[in-house]
Amino acid sequence: MPTRMPLQESEAIVLRSYPLGEADRLVSFLSRSAGRIRGVARGARRPKSRFGASLEPLSHIRIWFYERETRELVRIHQCELLESFLDAQRDFQCGCALALMAEVAEAVLPEREAAEGAFRLLLHVAREIRDSHAVALPLAFYALWMVRLAGWLGDLERCARCGASLREVAAWSRIGAAGLYCSRCRQGGMRALSAEALELARCMLTARLENLRRFQDRIQPLQELSRFYLDLIEYQIERKLLSRPMVEAGK
Ligand SMILES: [Zn+2]
Repeated sequence: MPTRMPLQESEAIVLRSYPLGEADRLVSFLSRSAGRIRGVARGARRPKSRFGASLEPLSHIRIWFYERETRELVRIHQCELLESFLDAQRDFQCGCALALMAEVAEAVLPEREAAEGAFRLLLHVAREIRDSHAVALPLAFYALWMVRLAGWLGDLERCARCGASLREVAAWSRIGAAGLYCSRCRQGGMRALSAEALELARCMLTARLENLRRFQDRIQPLQELSRFYLDLIEYQIERKLLSRPMVEAGK
């Protein structure tokens, strides 16, 4: 018998949770200090389970779990719900956006690598969606910052080929590529990113989300940005994001 490892405690956000066996749940969660971890919550699907609603996607929880020496799944011992996003999830558009954010975190973050920046980003943007009931601005902000935290962000200031300034002009890019090109270096098949969208992206890199609310009605450039960065994420993870069509259909 392997010896039982010490009980660990962490603040976490549930990314995904699905049925396992007859009464259990397999849960993927983002721990503030230890990154993305998967574990089993025994008996979580039984009525009156001690886990209650704490394992719903996006739940902000305190979690206690055991590592298991021989398996990569931890054993979830107990959870305490700190903050729920169920109210926001009941709104169709907000719910789709939150699901997409969790899916992106699940797809982009490597297992068991500390990702406190991503933890804070996810929590912060989820709160903004809940409090503002706006989707376009938080989602564009989230996609841009996840790309930046993953190290995939390209230069927003200069053409990747000739170095010309991209201030106050539209830029061009190949789908999934980080680099931007000026109109002279543009090649066939490239898609435009408007000057307004680029300017919003620059603001998002320097300002806090709650200070950007004045831009939340600029739906078109915000959607351009989301599309640009979600394309980049899909290119990097080499697959389509399943929740993305729902978000884009609901816009
Ligand atoms: Zn150029």
